[in-house]
Order: sequence, then structure tokens, then C-alpha cells
Amino acid sequence: MASPAKQPRTESETVVGYLHSVSPLKNSKKNVRYFNATLQSGREEYRRVVVFAVDKRPAFTQASVAKRAVKLTNVRKTVSYCDPAGFDVMFANTSGLEVMENLPFFWREPSNIARVRIADVLALGPRQQVGVVHAKILPDGAVSRVVPVAGVPRELKEVRICDRSGLTTLTLWEGQILSVEASRSYRLCNLVTRKVGDRTVLTSTRTTTVTEIADVGEPESLEPHDDSRETTTLRGCVSGVQISQKQRCRRCHANQDNFSKRSSTHQCQGCKMLQRASSFILSYSGTLLLSSEGEEHSVSFTNSSVYAYLAEHLGGSVSDAEAIEEHLIGAGETEVRVNGSGLILSVVHLADEVGVKREDAEGAPEASAGLSDASTDASQGPAGQTAAAENPQGLPEHNLSADDQLGLELLFAENA
Ligand SMILES: [Zn+2]
Repeated sequence: MASPAKQPRTESETVVGYLHSVSPLKNSKKNVRYFNATLQSGREEYRRVVVFAVDKRPAFTQASVAKRAVKLTNVRKTVSYCDPAGFDVMFANTSGLEVMENLPFFWREPSNIARVRIADVLALGPRQQVGVVHAKILPDGAVSRVVPVAGVPRELKEVRICDRSGLTTLTLWEGQILSVEASRSYRLCNLVTRKVGDRTVLTSTRTTTVTEIADVGEPESLEPHDDSRETTTLRGCVSGVQISQKQRCRRCHANQDNFSKRSSTHQCQGCKMLQRASSFILSYSGTLLLSSEGEEHSVSFTNSSVYAYLAEHLGGSVSDAEAIEEHLIGAGETEVRVNGSGLILSVVHLADEVGVKREDAEGAPEASAGLSDASTDASQGPAGQTAAAENPQGLPEHNLSADDQLGLELLFAENA
């Protein structure tokens, strides 16, 4: 097969391979029915297939079970978030599935190994399920981003992780960001691999669980990370602050504008589902103005940076936006670390400093954890809130094309 990634995108492409892992039927956020499968398009190449022709599911299952080679016609290749050098396959109602006789490579099961060392993760291709990794979160090199998924800004954070065998990156979504601390080790279950350039990295899924374990150590020589280009430290006085909080639906992630604190139930404005008021998630955003030497810097709080601030400076007990604002404005000289997108990584009030300096927001005590998903309800924080991202006004978002957007949405939805 020619290098498909370099071909121009058309609506009528053909791919061949073996089908693996045909999923049950799923519903997208916009109520589109689809299912997924994995197409082995080479000896060790696996592509994600998103099938909207749900009536073809029996044919997909049959070919998968029988390990028959197939040709998928009139499909569309889209950007793959799991494998930027590769592609995903979109199979529409007008696409076709034909069984083929021969392929120049053999059927081979995607690896789905239990406990994997980082060195073995690095040897995996993209889209591989990784059962269990024991890894340490390195204190440097974390990158925070906000990306829109189904129109809702979601926070993600890439952290560097290692064990004695090697080093890679792990992407954590939303509530999971708060469930890890730098320099500690965790047992991470249910991850998926992606390729970034030629490096295999890990992404958490909605079923990922995170449990702290004893230190797993580091490789003998740890590749240093130069984060000076990505982060800036600003020092000055807080000259203005604005913190917003909104309840967000755990099911559809819609922000609630009409949430009443007095009522024990609330009907979501998005999915119209009547739910207990306590099952909505409190989500923060905000802007901080910092003045130093006549210059004023405007930087943005993400949801996780507000939670980290709450845990560190207000004992995690306060959930009132005004109280946070007052604490910030009254704090005197302050040091703020921001990333290249102007997102706050950590806030240190220099007057509070008594010898020990907290490194950054990752050092926050355990706050709430768990994605806004029923499967992780048990991991709610003390205030009964899980974390969800909020995009502060003017926060730079990644500009995604419609295809990229669909790919990311499906990746996120599929992470279930
Ligand atoms: Zn809803």
C-alpha cells in the first residue's frame, strides 16, 4: 500500500486489511449512531475505523471473527489523533465492505498486554491498549492545553512519566489532572498509545484508574527537560482578578446559567435531564492581572489551576469565587508561572513562603479526581465536585479544522 497519509483527501478512497475489535453500537454526543473497529492495514499498522453505516456491523463482526482480509471502499481518511502520521478511516452509508482473498501480510492481533514497562510502551505502535503501567510523574515538562470537544472546552495536560526502563508522555484529561502529583508514582490502568512524531506516548481514557504506589524509580540517565522556553515566571502584585464558577452537567458537559443553589434538583439546559443538584460539577475559570514595574500582565486560570490554588492556599474548603478573588487580591507580592499559552501553572504568594517553596500546581494535595462520567463518580472531592475545564474568556484555543475536531471528539467519546 502506498503511503496513504500523503495522498490528498477524497471521499472515495479504498483501504485494505484485517478487522479487529469491532465495538458495540455507540451514540455520539449529537446522537449519531456509530461503532468502531480497528483495521490492521499492514504487518504492524493499525487504523481506527469509525463506522456510521450501523447496519454493516454484522458484516464487520463476521469478517473480524473469521480473520478475513477486507477491502473498505468509498471511505474517507481523516487526521488521526492517535497517530498523527497515519489516518483514521470514516466509513459512511455509501461506503462498502468486500471480503478479499489475499494480502501481503498476515492477520496479527493488536497487543493488549497487562503490565507494561515504559520501554515496552515505546516499542508499541499507536492505538494499542495498555492494561497497566507503573510510572512516576516527573516534576518538569508538563504542558496544559484547552481544546474544544463537542463545542465544550476541555482541559488536558501532558505530563512526563518514567520508570527505570524509560520515559514518555502521558496525556491526562480534566479531573484526572488533579488526581496526580509531581514526583509521585502511580499504577495507571487502561491507557491507549498514540504516536507523536516517532515517539509512542500514552493517553488516559475515561476508564483509566489512577492509584498511588511506592516510588518506581527513574532511568539511570534521565533525559533533561528544558521548560524555560515554555514557561514564564512573572512576579508582581495582583492588580485585578476575576474568577467565575459555573455548574456543569456531568452527562453532556453543558454549562448551567440558571442553577439555583436552593433547589435539590436541576434540569440540565443541555440534555434536559433532571438530576440531583449535587451531581452537577463545579467548574472554574478566571483571569489574573499582575503588575510589575509598571507593566500589567493578564494571565488565565484553568479549572485545575483554580482547584490547585484552592487546595494550597485555602485548604480546599472554599468554593466561593468571591472568597478566592479576595484572597488573591490581598496576597501581596506574588509569583505566577504561566505556560506559553498564558495559562497559569502555579501561584505562589511570596509572603506565605516559609522556607519550603512549592514547585508548581502539580504539587497540590489530592483534590477531586475523576472524569465527569458515571464510572468515576466515586472519586469526587471533598466538596462533592469533580473537575471540568472551563475556557476563560480570551483563552487561546487550538484552531482545529472540522475533520480534526471530529477526530478529537470521537477520540474523546471513544475513550469511554
Ligand atoms: Zn446535560
